Amino acid sequence: KDSKTTRFIEAHELAARFFHHLLMNTEQGKVAYDYLMDRGISPDVMKQFQLGYAPKEQTVLKELLEKRQFDAQEMEECGLLRRVEATWELEDRFRHRIMFPIWNIDGKVVGFGGRIITDGQPKYVNTPETPIFKKNELLYGFHLARPFVRKKNRVILFEGYVDVLSSHLADLPYAIATLGTSLTKRQAQIIRRNTERITICYDGDRAGEDATLKAANLLQQEGLQVEIAILPEEEDPDQYIRTYGKERFQKEIIEAAVPLIVFKMHLFKKEKNLNDEGEKLQYVEEVLHEIASLSTSVEQDIYVRHLSEETSVSLEALKQELERKIRANH
Ligand code: ATP
Ligand code: MN
Ligand code: MN
Ligand code: MN
Repeated sequence: KDSKTTRFIEAHELAARFFHHLLMNTEQGKVAYDYLMDRGISPDVMKQFQLGYAPKEQTVLKELLEKRQFDAQEMEECGLLRRVEATWELEDRFRHRIMFPIWNIDGKVVGFGGRIITDGQPKYVNTPETPIFKKNELLYGFHLARPFVRKKNRVILFEGYVDVLSSHLADLPYAIATLGTSLTKRQAQIIRRNTERITICYDGDRAGEDATLKAANLLQQEGLQVEIAILPEEEDPDQYIRTYGKERFQKEIIEAAVPLIVFKMHLFKKEKNLNDEGEKLQYVEEVLHEIASLSTSVEQDIYVRHLSEETSVSLEALKQELERKIRANH
């Protein structure tokens, strides 16, 4: 076996095949299989994403790796094994979890996300940062999505692994996700090399909203056209698809995605009562501030009109105020 990188990848490929076999064909994998079936994840999708089951016992993978002549020390270094503090022994990092292999862009398994099967903490355990697993440049599902991304010149960005699977099930295969961290500039650049248009579809909670604003700014800076898909409060894409079906997800969430400015208006509006004069003024201020930083006067014109209709403040007054803000920005 040539280089360390090659050995790390071979070990991950072996582990992924092993976990997948346990999930699909064995009695011990049945809890995980049933859990996934319950969540509407079909055997086809399990195969496509090579989902797996990591057994309960302490050293099942360790023994397999040893039998195949992998060095235990190196297996710790690449994250498949971990050291138990009390005994200083090596054991399997992932135990009794549903395994999501994470591929690099060449389609090689370089890490795993492991989900707990029932409720409990932590919900996910990911491979730690290693020479082959760099969270800030990997994107879950990208090698499967890439042909579709290129063909459609668009991509949908999700928060979670399961959202990516659900998106495939909803006939939207140009789907990717970050690995439980916020989107980085590096990831934005990689996306930009493959497409010009992106729809952000994060969870409909406060964390999702904050992450959406950050990701949207980064993606725009890299020159992507960004749209935001807005989910109902406290729903995530996977839940939405299961509750309302794929047609509604396609039409009412993805096709209904809005430009960033409209998403911001939606956020400003959420905490306000526009029938209250003071709150309405505050809303107008906040929105005008955003409109002032739009890059073209055509866009500015569109959204001032929008705002005027929405608040029944005269277009003239809004435009005057907007001009004042634009001058102040320079
Ligand atoms: P599920 O639908 O299975 O409950 P989810 O993807 O909806 O999972 P979220 O809580 O929304 O779960 O988290 C989004 C993503 O963040 C996960 O897919 C995972 O990558 C990451 N994540 C969540 N919890 C953890 C954790 N405790 N440690 C590391 N990463 C995590
Ligand atoms: Mn979330
Ligand atoms: Mn979620
Ligand atoms: Mn979820």
